[in-house]
Amino acid sequence: MELKVQTNVALSQFTTYRTGGPARFFAPARNWQQIFGLREFAKSKGMPYLIIGGGSNVLFADEGYPGLVILNQMDKLRIHGKNVTADSAVSISKLVLLTAKHNLGGVSGFALIPGSIGGAVYGNAGVPDISISDVFVHAEILPENSDTPIIVGSDYCKFDYRTSHFKDTKDIILNVTLKLKSTPAAIIKTEINQYIKARTIKQPIGLSCGSFFKNPGQFPSAGWLIDQSGCKGMEVGGAQVSEKHANFIMNTGKASTADILELAMEVYNRVEEKYNINLEPEVQILPKNPFI
Ligand SMILES: Cc1cc2nc3c(=O)[nH]c(=O)nc-3n(C[C@H](O)[C@H](O)[C@H](O)COP(=O)(O)OP(=O)(O)OC[C@H]3O[C@@H](n4cnc5c(N)ncnc54)[C@H](O)[C@@H]3O)c2cc1C
Repeated sequence: MELKVQTNVALSQFTTYRTGGPARFFAPARNWQQIFGLREFAKSKGMPYLIIGGGSNVLFADEGYPGLVILNQMDKLRIHGKNVTADSAVSISKLVLLTAKHNLGGVSGFALIPGSIGGAVYGNAGVPDISISDVFVHAEILPENSDTPIIVGSDYCKFDYRTSHFKDTKDIILNVTLKLKSTPAAIIKTEINQYIKARTIKQPIGLSCGSFFKNPGQFPSAGWLIDQSGCKGMEVGGAQVSEKHANFIMNTGKASTADILELAMEVYNRVEEKYNINLEPEVQILPKNPFI
């Protein structure tokens, strides 16, 4: 099996933030055997590794990543009865649109979430009224310390608000099965349009990772806390706290990861000072999260 490992590949081209330096090693993978081979390669060199999907929830350092970044390219999707099984690189929006054509819904809320279904399971992605965990049946994974894929259910995944057990492991999610509901395609279309309308009113368009910080509880939201701490419009270099939604830290075009992190740290400090609340980033900051 041939592994196409490249060196010093700019990670900015694979993230929605469009920032980040080079990966020391970088390789695409189209099946689990390639992922397994790449993981062995990284282990043999004693270096860190990780897999990315859409790059919509990662923030890589300007210095880059000192190990192997695997770009997930497994993208088959199969509908069986009211369930769908999607390889982990299938984009969430594609999953919603393709299943809608078969009159299967219940997941319209995911239509505007960028990124892959693997990334969505990793972070239990969702919108206020639905998260991946609500429709999750099982996933096939390559466990951290095993050479054989296994199937795991919700108990294993320990889903919670924007998190799962996968954040504590190096397991790799290979495919995901979700349960859907019989819904006429026309109704799904209307639901998706409602989500689009709501999102256009609330959220800015541009380079970001979506919400930067998790909501600390039901209320107040991270966006409200940041707004009330006077952070809207604040800038560091090319990074800016959105005027439209305070929990969006935007790359206005020329931001570095250092700009984004310096601004996020200022936001974090102001909220801590005013409300004594420590916000937790939702985005995965790599290779090291400065907030812990
Ligand atoms: C404009 C915008 C709007 C957004 N709106 C929302 C929203 O409404 N709700 C929401 O929840 N999120 C939202 N997000 C965040 C993001 O889209 C989700 O977190 C998404 O699920 C990330 O998927 P990804 O493939 O891009 O993950 P990546 O960014 O590629 O990776 C994120 C993390 O998941 C891990 N990972 C990815 N694939 C796998 C795999 N196969 N196996 C194991 N680990 C894996 C990576 O190692 C990394 O740690 C938004 C982002 C943007 C840019």
